[in-house]
Amino acid sequence: ARVDSDRTHQAPRRGVWAPPPQVRSLDPSPANPYPQPSYRPLSPVSVTASPAVEKVKTPSPRSRAPIVLLFAAGGRDAFRRSASGDDTGVKRAIISDIHGNLEALRAVLEDIDRQQVDAIYCLGDVVGYGPNPCECVKLVRQRASLVLLGNHDQGALFDPDGFNVGAERAIRWTRAQLEQHDRIARNPNDHLTDFLGELPRARTEGDLLFVHGSARRPLDEYVFPEDIYNPLKMEHIFELFKRYCFQGHTHIPGIFTTDPEFVSPMIPKGVEEQRLELPEGKAMVNVGSVGQPRDGDSRACYAILEDETAVRFRRIEYPFDVTCRKIYDIPDLDNFLGDRLTQGR
Ligand code: ZN
Repeated sequence: ARVDSDRTHQAPRRGVWAPPPQVRSLDPSPANPYPQPSYRPLSPVSVTASPAVEKVKTPSPRSRAPIVLLFAAGGRDAFRRSASGDDTGVKRAIISDIHGNLEALRAVLEDIDRQQVDAIYCLGDVVGYGPNPCECVKLVRQRASLVLLGNHDQGALFDPDGFNVGAERAIRWTRAQLEQHDRIARNPNDHLTDFLGELPRARTEGDLLFVHGSARRPLDEYVFPEDIYNPLKMEHIFELFKRYCFQGHTHIPGIFTTDPEFVSPMIPKGVEEQRLELPEGKAMVNVGSVGQPRDGDSRACYAILEDETAVRFRRIEYPFDVTCRKIYDIPDLDNFLGDRLTQGR
């Protein structure tokens, strides 16, 4: 099946999602390289799918077991233990889909530094689309204790397959940047392509799963808000992890429950954060995108998981005009990739 890496969405400013009034082709054409599905936002904060939609099986209630932390040897950050001596108080910052946007990444890392987290996890797509792939890989390598492989990272390493014309051109340019860096790197241990090539696709820690796309296809499956109207898909994916799955890939932050329901954080201008409770049952949490938000908010997005009870979605202003100008100056990066940053689409 074709992977359309560049489906873009107009997200509602508030609340949950309505189904598209009609399904139309999302295949890019020369006339419309970045097709936009149409959506009708609902006004309430939280709306479940219509009763006509078959409900996803609700898992039996689980006791809140403490997180079991498993680390590969060489993990950089040792977790601080909480005052009570267990690990349930571990505070993780979860970032994803940086896409070579150095200005957004720096702003988010500065914000993370103020949040005093125990570890930074990155769910992939460090490169692709943006003008600073090498700088972003280096910074993420330095700061994150877990980095997963995203489909754009993989595309930059191997034959990009299934991307549209603009995205593929950006990926080929990105690969050239990484290879150029590695050619002149004095220390072979510093090779960025080696670092990306060795990234895992998923990480399980107790009841938590971390992936780029979905629990079913960690690298490249999209779970979009409108998928709550596709109970078969949702039910299958929900069966594949124990309790909470953290993912990125769509660039649209929010929480999927088994109801099925999608709750998007609403963070008006001037407000930095919304805290959403995690349900007793299972949930998939999309942490949004640092470097190319597509939910109508141009601010960089990431999430903080304080313990197993709530997620804090944060929106961080960054100078997107700087990133935008860099993109305009690079012929292989479509101007649209800059324009979209100004609108968060
Ligand atoms: Zn992405």
